[in-house]
Amino acid sequence: MEDRNISRRQSAALFEEAKQYFPGGVHSPVRAFKSVIGPPLFIRRGEGCRITDVDGNRYLDFCCSWGPLILGHGHPRVKKMILEAVESGTTFGTPSEWDLQVGRLLLPRHRFIEKIRFVSSGTEAVMSALRLARGVTGKSKVVKFEGCYHGHVDSLMVKAGSGLVTFGVSTSAGIPEAFVRETLVLPLGDVEALETMLQTQGHDIACVIIEPVPANNGLLLQDKAYLEAVRRLCTQYNVLLIFDEVISGFRVGFEGAAGYYDIRPDIVTYGKIIGGGMPVGAYGASVAIMGNVAPEGPVYQAGTLSANPVAMAAGLATLEELLEPGVYASLERKTEKFTSFVQAHCDAHGYEVSLPHIASIFWIAFSRERIQRADQIDAGKMEFFKTLHFELLQRGVYLGPSGYEVGFISTAHGENELDQAADALCRALDVAMSS
Ligand SMILES: *Cc1c(COP(=O)(O)O)cnc(C)c1O
Repeated sequence: MEDRNISRRQSAALFEEAKQYFPGGVHSPVRAFKSVIGPPLFIRRGEGCRITDVDGNRYLDFCCSWGPLILGHGHPRVKKMILEAVESGTTFGTPSEWDLQVGRLLLPRHRFIEKIRFVSSGTEAVMSALRLARGVTGKSKVVKFEGCYHGHVDSLMVKAGSGLVTFGVSTSAGIPEAFVRETLVLPLGDVEALETMLQTQGHDIACVIIEPVPANNGLLLQDKAYLEAVRRLCTQYNVLLIFDEVISGFRVGFEGAAGYYDIRPDIVTYGKIIGGGMPVGAYGASVAIMGNVAPEGPVYQAGTLSANPVAMAAGLATLEELLEPGVYASLERKTEKFTSFVQAHCDAHGYEVSLPHIASIFWIAFSRERIQRADQIDAGKMEFFKTLHFELLQRGVYLGPSGYEVGFISTAHGENELDQAADALCRALDVAMSS
């Protein structure tokens, strides 16, 4: 791949226009490229592991729409099934055979959930799971962890207060104090802190929610022993454990992180991959817990476009493909090879860089230490990422536009493309680390 100075003229012009219509020109903040160089790319087309912007530049895509596209862009099986669904109509607001097929495929092959409810986004899944946990336990407080993201749910847009502040503070305007007080925030990896909190406030706590593979604030891989301790403590104090598997679900294996670590959560939330590139979220649990959801039980939750046939078709095709033998092993092998190539380059040049990874998720950390908590990330080092991101675009590689975001490898990333991308990443790091 030859170095070239790419033009973003068309993207820049469209972004200027978009800013007249949409707040910040976008519909989700990170898309605005605020923490990297230049205007956001307007993408016109995706094929396999490549995307093309409106200026005609092509990139190897490691963002993959933030995770849903584990099969890459325009996978034939997914496309075919979407078209088949569309032929018969796009929405009926009734039960259909599409959602039934997903249930029939999914539940017998998943040891950790017995029933599932489809919604339209990851945020909606988490919001509904919290209501369910509160409805089942009759308690109201929620424990979350610093460095885990659970969508833009009011009561979860909360981070730990500094110093002696007992309560958390909201990370968005528009969230009432009263909601913030319902949320307790703890550092990841600290069993004692959780135990103390459950001991003293367990009688008020409905659930503990965690990303078992925290991948929204760097990749903060936890020890299995820690996750096991979280499980044990929740059981001991009669608090429900929610695994937010919106990223890790169907990504670190068909059974997600629950399967990967062999830990049984009480409720699991899904999003991203389960919709195969269409807007789908879901929450699942045991028959007993799901029996509380309306119309079976008293916890109300509904959706006009829930289990939309077209979205279900995309999810169904994606899950079917993921069940083909060897898919996850191959993804993991490719990711291992890609990251170890780049790691070797960094080590040889003495760069303070490491590439934590799990299954087909990787992160570029500007540190050699193992990072397991949000407060171990040095925000100052994100200047390196700015340069890195820019230099990668010059070399035809697209990463999510923030150093706190992880990268994803799909089944469409071939060995050759990964070798090319690894080489481009090494050369972009040469520039970034000497700046
Ligand atoms: C992406 C994500 C969400 C939010 O999902 P949306 O579909 O963006 O609403 C929630 N939890 C986790 C762990 C996520 O990665």
